[in-house]
Amino acid sequence: MTVTVHRARAVLSPGTPPLVDGAVAVRDGRIAAVGRFDDVISEFPDAAVHEEDGALTPGLVNAHTHLQYTDMAAVGRAAHDGFESWMGAFMELYPLPRDWSASAAAGAALCLRAGTTAVAEIVTDAEAGSAVHESGLHGIAFWEVLGWTESAWRLGGPETVRAQLGALPTPPTVGLSPHAIYSLDTEVIRELSRLAAEWGVRQHIHAAESAWEDAYVRTGTGDLAERWRANGRGEFALLSGNGVGTGVIPYLDSLGALTPTTHLAHGIYVDTDDRRLLRDRGVSVALCPRSNAVIGLDPPPIAAYLREGNAIAVGTDSLSSSPSLSIWHDVAALHRLAREQGYAAPDLHARLFHAATAGGAHALGLDAVDPTGILQVGARADLAVFPVSATTPEDALAELVENGPAEASLTVVGGHLRWRTPAREERMTANV
Ligand SMILES: [Zn+2]
Repeated sequence: MTVTVHRARAVLSPGTPPLVDGAVAVRDGRIAAVGRFDDVISEFPDAAVHEEDGALTPGLVNAHTHLQYTDMAAVGRAAHDGFESWMGAFMELYPLPRDWSASAAAGAALCLRAGTTAVAEIVTDAEAGSAVHESGLHGIAFWEVLGWTESAWRLGGPETVRAQLGALPTPPTVGLSPHAIYSLDTEVIRELSRLAAEWGVRQHIHAAESAWEDAYVRTGTGDLAERWRANGRGEFALLSGNGVGTGVIPYLDSLGALTPTTHLAHGIYVDTDDRRLLRDRGVSVALCPRSNAVIGLDPPPIAAYLREGNAIAVGTDSLSSSPSLSIWHDVAALHRLAREQGYAAPDLHARLFHAATAGGAHALGLDAVDPTGILQVGARADLAVFPVSATTPEDALAELVENGPAEASLTVVGGHLRWRTPAREERMTANV
Protein backbone atom coordinates (compact mmCIF):
# COMPACT_ATOMS: atom_id res chain seq x y z
CA MET A 1 0.00 0.00 0.00
CA THR A 2 1.39 3.41 -1.01
CA VAL A 3 2.38 5.72 1.82
CA THR A 4 2.43 9.49 1.39
CA VAL A 5 4.25 11.71 3.84
CA HIS A 6 3.27 15.36 4.18
CA ARG A 7 6.13 17.35 5.73
CA ALA A 8 5.56 20.82 7.18
CA ARG A 9 7.56 23.19 9.34
CA ALA A 10 4.71 23.25 11.89
CA VAL A 11 2.35 20.36 12.62
CA LEU A 12 -0.49 21.25 14.97
CA SER A 13 -3.11 18.99 16.52
CA PRO A 14 -5.46 19.85 19.41
CA GLY A 15 -4.38 18.50 22.75
CA THR A 16 -0.83 17.56 21.74
CA PRO A 17 2.42 19.56 21.71
CA PRO A 18 3.15 21.27 18.37
CA LEU A 19 5.87 19.79 16.17
CA VAL A 20 8.71 21.63 14.45
CA ASP A 21 9.61 20.08 11.08
CA GLY A 22 6.85 17.55 11.54
CA ALA A 23 5.20 15.09 9.22
CA VAL A 24 2.07 13.02 8.81
CA ALA A 25 2.17 9.69 6.97
CA VAL A 26 -1.04 8.64 5.19
CA ARG A 27 -1.84 5.10 4.16
CA ASP A 28 -5.17 3.72 2.96
CA GLY A 29 -7.15 6.77 4.07
CA ARG A 30 -5.76 6.79 7.59
CA ILE A 31 -2.93 8.40 9.46
CA ALA A 32 -0.11 5.87 9.72
CA ALA A 33 2.37 8.07 11.63
CA VAL A 34 2.66 11.57 13.11
CA GLY A 35 5.89 13.02 14.46
CA ARG A 36 9.17 14.67 13.62
CA PHE A 37 9.93 14.26 9.94
CA ASP A 38 13.13 12.30 10.64
CA ASP A 39 11.22 9.77 12.73
CA VAL A 40 8.35 9.41 10.28
CA ILE A 41 10.60 8.93 7.26
CA SER A 42 12.69 6.35 9.08
CA GLU A 43 9.49 4.39 9.68
CA PHE A 44 8.42 4.75 6.04
CA PRO A 45 11.63 5.18 4.03
CA ASP A 46 9.94 4.40 0.70
CA ALA A 47 7.11 6.91 1.13
CA ALA A 48 6.41 9.66 -1.39
CA VAL A 49 7.29 12.90 0.40
CA HIS A 50 5.31 16.09 -0.20
CA GLU A 51 7.04 19.21 1.09
CA GLU A 52 4.18 21.41 2.30
CA ASP A 53 4.58 25.14 2.75
CA GLY A 54 2.86 26.20 5.97
CA ALA A 55 1.20 24.72 9.03
CA LEU A 56 -0.36 21.27 8.81
CA THR A 57 -3.47 20.72 10.94
CA PRO A 58 -6.44 18.36 11.09
CA GLY A 59 -9.05 19.35 8.50
CA LEU A 60 -11.42 22.01 9.80
CA VAL A 61 -15.00 21.07 10.70
CA ASN A 62 -17.75 23.46 9.65
CA ALA A 63 -20.37 22.56 12.26
CA HIS A 64 -23.20 24.62 10.74
CA THR A 65 -23.78 25.57 7.13
CA HIS A 66 -26.34 25.57 4.31
CA LEU A 67 -24.33 25.07 1.12
CA GLN A 68 -27.37 25.46 -1.11
CA TYR A 69 -27.51 29.20 -0.32
CA THR A 70 -24.04 29.82 -1.80
CA ASP A 71 -25.81 31.40 -4.76
CA MET A 72 -27.57 33.88 -2.42
CA ALA A 73 -24.39 35.64 -1.30
CA ALA A 74 -25.91 39.03 -2.11
CA VAL A 75 -28.02 38.72 1.05
CA GLY A 76 -24.95 37.92 3.16
CA ARG A 77 -22.92 40.81 1.73
CA ALA A 78 -25.50 43.35 2.89
CA ALA A 79 -25.81 44.58 6.48
CA HIS A 80 -29.09 43.96 8.29
CA ASP A 81 -30.41 45.36 11.53
CA GLY A 82 -32.09 42.28 12.91
CA PHE A 83 -33.72 38.98 12.04
CA GLU A 84 -36.79 40.58 10.52
CA SER A 85 -34.90 42.68 7.98
CA TRP A 86 -32.54 39.80 7.14
CA MET A 87 -35.44 37.39 6.66
CA GLY A 88 -37.16 39.93 4.42
CA ALA A 89 -34.07 40.13 2.20
CA PHE A 90 -33.68 36.35 2.21
CA MET A 91 -37.31 35.72 1.27
CA GLU A 92 -37.08 38.13 -1.67
CA LEU A 93 -34.50 35.84 -3.29
CA TYR A 94 -35.31 32.37 -1.96
CA PRO A 95 -38.48 31.74 -4.03
CA LEU A 96 -36.80 32.68 -7.33
CA PRO A 97 -35.97 29.77 -9.65
CA ARG A 98 -32.43 28.58 -8.98
CA ASP A 99 -30.19 25.59 -9.58
CA TRP A 100 -29.88 24.44 -5.98
CA SER A 101 -27.68 21.55 -6.96
CA ALA A 102 -25.08 23.80 -8.62
CA SER A 103 -25.27 26.32 -5.80
CA ALA A 104 -24.64 23.64 -3.17
CA ALA A 105 -21.82 22.13 -5.25
CA ALA A 106 -20.16 25.56 -5.44
CA GLY A 107 -20.43 25.81 -1.66
CA ALA A 108 -18.87 22.39 -1.16
CA ALA A 109 -15.94 23.40 -3.39
CA LEU A 110 -15.47 26.58 -1.33
CA CYS A 111 -15.39 24.51 1.86
CA LEU A 112 -12.62 22.31 0.48
CA ARG A 113 -10.62 25.36 -0.61
CA ALA A 114 -11.01 26.73 2.92
CA GLY A 115 -9.40 23.62 4.42
CA THR A 116 -12.68 22.19 5.67
CA THR A 117 -12.94 18.42 5.56
CA ALA A 118 -16.27 17.82 7.35
CA VAL A 119 -19.53 19.74 7.42
CA ALA A 120 -22.87 19.79 9.21
CA GLU A 121 -24.81 20.63 6.06
CA ILE A 122 -28.50 21.51 6.16
CA VAL A 123 -30.47 20.51 3.07
CA THR A 124 -33.77 22.33 2.55
CA ASP A 125 -34.43 21.58 -1.13
CA ALA A 126 -33.86 18.00 -2.27
CA GLU A 127 -31.86 19.03 -5.37
CA ALA A 128 -29.15 20.34 -3.03
CA GLY A 129 -28.86 16.99 -1.29
CA SER A 130 -26.11 15.48 -3.43
CA ALA A 131 -23.45 18.19 -2.98
CA VAL A 132 -21.67 16.73 0.05
CA HIS A 133 -21.89 13.24 -1.43
CA GLU A 134 -20.36 14.32 -4.73
CA SER A 135 -17.67 16.57 -3.27
CA GLY A 136 -16.19 13.86 -1.07
CA LEU A 137 -16.60 15.99 2.06
CA HIS A 138 -17.02 14.11 5.31
CA GLY A 139 -19.81 14.95 7.75
CA ILE A 140 -23.58 14.85 7.93
CA ALA A 141 -26.32 16.03 5.56
CA PHE A 142 -29.24 17.08 7.74
CA TRP A 143 -32.65 17.11 6.08
CA GLU A 144 -34.39 20.31 7.23
CA VAL A 145 -37.91 19.91 8.56
CA LEU A 146 -40.04 23.03 8.92
CA GLY A 147 -43.52 24.45 8.60
CA TRP A 148 -45.46 21.50 10.04
CA THR A 149 -48.48 22.16 12.26
CA GLU A 150 -49.48 19.29 14.50
CA SER A 151 -52.70 18.73 12.55
CA ALA A 152 -50.86 18.49 9.22
CA TRP A 153 -48.22 16.22 10.78
CA ARG A 154 -50.91 13.76 11.87
CA LEU A 155 -51.88 13.33 8.20
CA GLY A 156 -48.63 11.63 7.21
CA GLY A 157 -45.76 13.81 8.49
CA PRO A 158 -43.53 10.95 9.68
CA GLU A 159 -43.91 9.02 6.42
CA THR A 160 -43.13 12.14 4.38
CA VAL A 161 -40.00 12.99 6.37
CA ARG A 162 -38.83 9.40 6.33
CA ALA A 163 -39.06 9.35 2.53
CA GLN A 164 -37.27 12.71 2.22
CA LEU A 165 -34.47 11.52 4.48
CA GLY A 166 -34.19 8.27 2.57
CA ALA A 167 -33.79 10.14 -0.72
CA LEU A 168 -30.53 11.84 0.36
CA PRO A 169 -27.51 10.13 -1.21
CA THR A 170 -25.00 8.54 1.16
CA PRO A 171 -22.27 8.88 2.20
CA PRO A 172 -22.27 11.21 4.10
CA THR A 173 -24.35 10.12 7.05
CA VAL A 174 -27.81 11.71 7.07
CA GLY A 175 -29.62 13.40 9.94
CA LEU A 176 -32.67 15.48 10.79
CA SER A 177 -32.71 19.23 11.26
CA PRO A 178 -35.91 20.40 12.92
CA HIS A 179 -35.42 24.01 11.77
CA ALA A 180 -36.29 26.00 14.91
CA ILE A 181 -38.78 26.24 17.75
CA TYR A 182 -40.87 28.83 15.86
CA SER A 183 -41.24 26.98 12.57
CA LEU A 184 -42.53 23.65 13.90
CA ASP A 185 -45.41 22.90 16.19
CA THR A 186 -44.58 21.70 19.70
CA GLU A 187 -45.69 18.10 19.25
CA VAL A 188 -43.87 17.86 15.93
CA ILE A 189 -40.55 18.73 17.59
CA ARG A 190 -41.26 16.15 20.29
CA GLU A 191 -42.08 13.50 17.71
CA LEU A 192 -39.05 14.27 15.54
CA SER A 193 -36.80 13.69 18.55
CA ARG A 194 -38.46 10.36 19.15
CA LEU A 195 -38.19 9.40 15.49
CA ALA A 196 -34.53 10.48 15.28
CA ALA A 197 -33.76 8.07 18.12
CA GLU A 198 -35.86 5.35 16.50
CA TRP A 199 -34.21 5.82 13.10
CA GLY A 200 -30.74 6.13 14.63
CA VAL A 201 -29.99 9.58 13.17
CA ARG A 202 -28.61 12.76 14.74
CA GLN A 203 -30.42 16.09 15.02
CA HIS A 204 -29.19 19.64 14.43
CA ILE A 205 -31.39 22.58 15.45
CA HIS A 206 -31.16 26.39 15.16
CA ALA A 207 -31.69 27.56 18.73
CA ALA A 208 -31.51 30.75 20.82
CA GLU A 209 -30.45 32.80 17.80
CA SER A 210 -32.61 35.91 18.15
CA ALA A 211 -34.45 37.99 20.72
CA TRP A 212 -37.52 37.44 18.50
CA GLU A 213 -37.36 33.74 19.21
CA ASP A 214 -36.96 34.32 22.94
CA ALA A 215 -40.15 36.40 23.21
CA TYR A 216 -41.95 33.89 21.01
CA VAL A 217 -41.25 30.89 23.25
CA ARG A 218 -41.75 32.69 26.56
CA THR A 219 -45.00 34.50 25.86
CA GLY A 220 -46.03 33.86 22.26
CA THR A 221 -45.59 37.58 21.59
CA GLY A 222 -43.38 39.89 19.56
CA ASP A 223 -42.80 40.55 15.89
CA LEU A 224 -42.12 36.93 15.01
CA ALA A 225 -45.28 35.72 16.74
CA GLU A 226 -47.36 38.38 14.98
CA ARG A 227 -45.80 37.54 11.62
CA TRP A 228 -46.61 33.86 12.05
CA ARG A 229 -50.18 34.55 13.18
CA ALA A 230 -50.63 36.71 10.11
CA ASN A 231 -49.24 33.86 7.97
CA GLY A 232 -51.88 31.43 9.21
CA ARG A 233 -49.70 29.59 11.74
CA GLY A 234 -51.78 30.70 14.75
CA GLU A 235 -52.59 27.08 15.57
CA PHE A 236 -48.96 26.42 16.63
CA ALA A 237 -49.24 25.53 20.33
CA LEU A 238 -46.76 28.23 21.37
CA LEU A 239 -48.98 30.86 19.72
CA SER A 240 -52.38 29.54 20.77
CA GLY A 241 -51.08 28.96 24.31
CA ASN A 242 -49.17 32.27 24.63
CA GLY A 243 -45.78 30.64 25.13
CA VAL A 244 -44.47 28.32 27.80
CA GLY A 245 -42.80 30.80 30.18
CA THR A 246 -39.27 29.48 29.66
CA GLY A 247 -36.43 30.11 27.25
CA VAL A 248 -35.62 28.04 24.20
CA ILE A 249 -33.20 25.62 25.91
CA PRO A 250 -35.55 24.34 28.67
CA TYR A 251 -38.36 24.20 26.11
CA LEU A 252 -36.33 21.96 23.79
CA ASP A 253 -35.33 19.86 26.78
CA SER A 254 -38.98 19.38 27.77
CA LEU A 255 -39.57 17.93 24.30
CA GLY A 256 -36.73 15.42 24.56
CA ALA A 257 -34.71 17.24 21.91
CA LEU A 258 -31.55 17.73 23.96
CA THR A 259 -29.52 14.55 23.86
CA PRO A 260 -25.86 13.72 23.09
CA THR A 261 -26.96 12.98 19.52
CA THR A 262 -28.13 16.56 18.95
CA HIS A 263 -26.11 19.71 18.38
CA LEU A 264 -27.41 23.25 18.23
CA ALA A 265 -26.52 26.21 16.04
CA HIS A 266 -25.98 29.75 17.43
CA GLY A 267 -26.82 29.53 21.16
CA ILE A 268 -26.74 33.30 21.72
CA TYR A 269 -29.65 33.90 24.09
CA VAL A 270 -28.60 31.44 26.80
CA ASP A 271 -28.06 32.10 30.49
CA THR A 272 -26.02 30.23 33.10
CA ASP A 273 -28.77 27.68 33.72
CA ASP A 274 -29.20 27.06 30.00
CA ARG A 275 -25.47 26.46 29.54
CA ARG A 276 -25.46 24.06 32.50
CA LEU A 277 -28.40 22.17 30.99
CA LEU A 278 -26.54 21.88 27.68
CA ARG A 279 -23.51 20.47 29.48
CA ASP A 280 -25.67 18.05 31.47
CA ARG A 281 -27.29 16.82 28.27
CA GLY A 282 -24.00 16.51 26.35
CA VAL A 283 -25.15 19.00 23.70
CA SER A 284 -22.54 20.93 21.67
CA VAL A 285 -23.22 24.38 20.24
CA ALA A 286 -21.92 25.50 16.84
CA LEU A 287 -21.11 29.20 17.12
CA CYS A 288 -21.41 31.33 13.96
CA PRO A 289 -20.38 34.84 15.04
CA ARG A 290 -20.01 36.43 11.61
CA SER A 291 -23.49 35.31 10.60
CA ASN A 292 -24.87 36.79 13.82
CA ALA A 293 -23.13 40.10 13.01
CA VAL A 294 -24.38 40.22 9.39
CA ILE A 295 -27.96 39.65 10.53
CA GLY A 296 -27.57 42.30 13.23
CA LEU A 297 -27.92 40.01 16.24
CA ASP A 298 -26.01 40.01 19.51
CA PRO A 299 -22.74 38.08 19.65
CA PRO A 300 -22.60 34.62 21.26
CA PRO A 301 -21.38 34.50 24.90
CA ILE A 302 -18.13 32.79 23.95
CA ALA A 303 -16.28 33.78 27.14
CA ALA A 304 -18.99 32.21 29.31
CA TYR A 305 -19.05 29.05 27.22
CA LEU A 306 -15.27 28.73 27.62
CA ARG A 307 -15.17 29.53 31.33
CA GLU A 308 -18.01 27.14 32.13
CA GLY A 309 -16.65 24.35 29.96
CA ASN A 310 -19.39 23.87 27.37
CA ALA A 311 -18.70 21.79 24.29
CA ILE A 312 -18.42 24.25 21.39
CA ALA A 313 -17.79 24.06 17.68
CA VAL A 314 -17.54 26.61 14.89
CA GLY A 315 -19.83 27.12 11.88
CA THR A 316 -19.95 29.66 9.11
CA ASP A 317 -23.68 29.41 8.47
CA SER A 318 -24.36 30.06 4.76
CA LEU A 319 -23.23 32.76 2.36
CA SER A 320 -26.74 34.20 2.68
CA SER A 321 -25.67 35.46 6.12
CA SER A 322 -21.88 35.38 6.08
CA PRO A 323 -19.11 36.88 3.95
CA SER A 324 -17.30 33.56 3.41
CA LEU A 325 -17.19 29.86 4.24
CA SER A 326 -13.82 30.22 5.99
CA ILE A 327 -13.83 28.63 9.44
CA TRP A 328 -10.67 30.56 10.38
CA HIS A 329 -12.54 33.83 9.85
CA ASP A 330 -15.20 32.79 12.36
CA VAL A 331 -12.48 31.60 14.71
CA ALA A 332 -10.85 35.05 14.48
CA ALA A 333 -14.21 36.66 15.28
CA LEU A 334 -14.60 34.37 18.31
CA HIS A 335 -11.08 35.28 19.46
CA ARG A 336 -11.90 39.00 19.33
CA LEU A 337 -15.22 38.48 21.11
CA ALA A 338 -13.69 36.32 23.85
CA ARG A 339 -11.12 39.00 24.64
CA GLU A 340 -13.79 41.74 24.54
CA GLN A 341 -15.94 39.67 26.90
CA GLY A 342 -13.04 39.45 29.36
CA TYR A 343 -11.68 35.99 28.66
CA ALA A 344 -7.98 36.53 29.50
CA ALA A 345 -6.72 32.95 30.00
CA PRO A 346 -3.66 31.95 27.94
CA ASP A 347 -5.37 28.85 26.54
CA LEU A 348 -7.60 30.81 24.15
CA HIS A 349 -5.70 29.88 20.97
CA ALA A 350 -5.65 26.20 21.89
CA ARG A 351 -9.32 26.10 22.82
CA LEU A 352 -10.54 27.83 19.68
CA PHE A 353 -8.31 25.57 17.56
CA HIS A 354 -9.91 22.61 19.35
CA ALA A 355 -13.41 24.00 18.66
CA ALA A 356 -12.63 24.28 14.93
CA THR A 357 -11.33 20.71 14.67
CA ALA A 358 -11.92 18.08 17.38
CA GLY A 359 -14.79 20.10 18.90
CA GLY A 360 -16.56 20.13 15.54
CA ALA A 361 -15.99 16.41 15.05
CA HIS A 362 -17.48 15.81 18.49
CA ALA A 363 -20.47 18.07 17.82
CA LEU A 364 -21.34 15.94 14.79
CA GLY A 365 -20.64 12.67 16.60
CA LEU A 366 -17.96 11.84 14.03
CA ASP A 367 -15.53 10.97 16.80
CA ALA A 368 -17.89 8.27 18.05
CA VAL A 369 -17.30 6.37 14.80
CA ASP A 370 -13.63 7.12 14.07
CA PRO A 371 -10.98 9.38 15.59
CA THR A 372 -11.58 12.61 13.62
CA GLY A 373 -10.40 16.21 14.00
CA ILE A 374 -7.05 15.19 15.47
CA LEU A 375 -3.74 13.96 14.09
CA GLN A 376 -3.05 10.56 15.57
CA VAL A 377 -2.19 7.11 14.29
CA GLY A 378 -5.33 5.35 13.12
CA ALA A 379 -7.41 8.54 12.72
CA ARG A 380 -9.10 9.44 9.45
CA ALA A 381 -6.63 11.19 7.16
CA ASP A 382 -8.58 14.46 7.13
CA LEU A 383 -5.99 17.20 7.06
CA ALA A 384 -5.15 20.62 5.71
CA VAL A 385 -2.14 22.86 5.25
CA PHE A 386 -2.40 26.63 5.66
CA PRO A 387 0.09 29.27 4.57
CA VAL A 388 1.51 31.11 7.58
CA SER A 389 4.29 33.64 7.98
CA ALA A 390 5.13 32.58 11.56
CA THR A 391 8.34 30.63 12.04
CA THR A 392 7.52 28.78 15.28
CA PRO A 393 4.58 26.40 15.79
CA GLU A 394 3.29 28.47 18.72
CA ASP A 395 3.27 31.61 16.59
CA ALA A 396 1.69 29.65 13.73
CA LEU A 397 -1.18 28.62 16.01
CA ALA A 398 -1.67 32.21 17.16
CA GLU A 399 -1.61 33.40 13.55
CA LEU A 400 -4.16 30.82 12.43
CA VAL A 401 -6.54 31.61 15.30
CA GLU A 402 -6.26 35.39 15.17
CA ASN A 403 -5.83 35.91 11.46
CA GLY A 404 -6.09 32.59 9.66
CA PRO A 405 -6.08 32.48 5.86
CA ALA A 406 -9.24 32.20 3.78
CA GLU A 407 -7.72 29.41 1.74
CA ALA A 408 -5.76 26.26 2.46
CA SER A 409 -2.85 25.21 0.26
CA LEU A 410 -3.81 21.54 0.66
CA THR A 411 -6.97 19.71 1.74
CA VAL A 412 -7.06 15.93 2.12
CA VAL A 413 -10.27 14.11 3.07
CA GLY A 414 -10.09 10.46 4.07
CA GLY A 415 -6.71 10.26 2.32
CA HIS A 416 -8.02 11.73 -0.95
CA LEU A 417 -6.58 14.96 -2.26
CA ARG A 418 -9.53 17.35 -2.64
CA TRP A 419 -7.77 20.69 -3.01
CA ARG A 420 -4.32 21.99 -3.70
CA THR A 421 -3.45 25.57 -4.67
CA PRO A 422 -3.17 25.77 -8.44
CA ALA A 423 0.51 26.73 -8.39
CA ARG A 424 1.26 23.17 -7.39
CA GLU A 425 -1.42 21.59 -9.51
CA GLU A 426 1.17 19.58 -11.42
CA ARG A 427 1.67 17.47 -8.32
CA MET A 428 -1.98 16.53 -8.07
CA THR A 429 -2.90 12.89 -8.18
CA ALA A 430 -6.21 11.20 -7.64
CA ASN A 431 -5.07 9.73 -4.35
CA VAL A 432 -2.41 10.82 -1.89
ZN1 LIG B 1 -28.39 28.27 9.75
